[in-house]
Amino acid sequence: MRALLLLGGTFSPVHLGHLRMAEIASESLGVSATFLINSIPPHKEAPSVTSSDRLRMLEIALKGTGFSIDTRELRRSSPSYTSETLREIRAERPHDPVIFIIGMDSFRTIGSWHEAEELPELASFFVIRRPGTEVPPPEKSFLGQHAERAGQAGELLRAPAGKYFISERECLPVSSTAIRQALARGEEPSLISPEVLQYIRKNGLYR
Ligand code: ATP
Repeated sequence: MRALLLLGGTFSPVHLGHLRMAEIASESLGVSATFLINSIPPHKEAPSVTSSDRLRMLEIALKGTGFSIDTRELRRSSPSYTSETLREIRAERPHDPVIFIIGMDSFRTIGSWHEAEELPELASFFVIRRPGTEVPPPEKSFLGQHAERAGQAGELLRAPAGKYFISERECLPVSSTAIRQALARGEEPSLISPEVLQYIRKNGLYR
């Protein structure tokens, strides 16, 4: 069985928190991560930059890391729902563990995602905390009720789907929103790769 480790996101723009998430999950599981770039996320405003800008920034940020990019959602004309994408991936790999990395904020809201009840049948989840965020009581959370909690990360590799693991390792205190706000104010954003920042400046993004 060859596990697939996915980090889905808008990456508008990609920041060092995204890279740290991929590192934490990859190191814990011994599997390299694939960044799954969203098209127009149904629950978020359309990004103020084009998807080719977001993809270019992701390519720049991942250069030399060994992480890869899956662009299938950008090729679709409809909004990208994680359930649809995971169904497509599941059809390609019926038996492989598919592990979706999510931040604690997504862990809290995943129950409201489109076709949420199908998600635990399609993938397992590796949950990463943002600094300072409380872990909600897992038994009251959507995944707590619809998936099996793994005590060790490695357990996610032993089933195709249906489990979740909450990592003890915290991520960096950064969000794409904070970076966009800093740029709009004309301030220097932190926790972004210098090469990505250079691309943003050169192309006049997020002003
Ligand atoms: P925005 O501020 O625009 O909502 P974001 O920084 O949350 O963006 P996304 O591309 O929407 O970035 O996030 C993709 C995934 O990464 C989500 O599951 C989100 O919870 C998670 N994530 C992003 N930043 C962090 C962070 N600093 N710590 C933990 N998880 C994070």
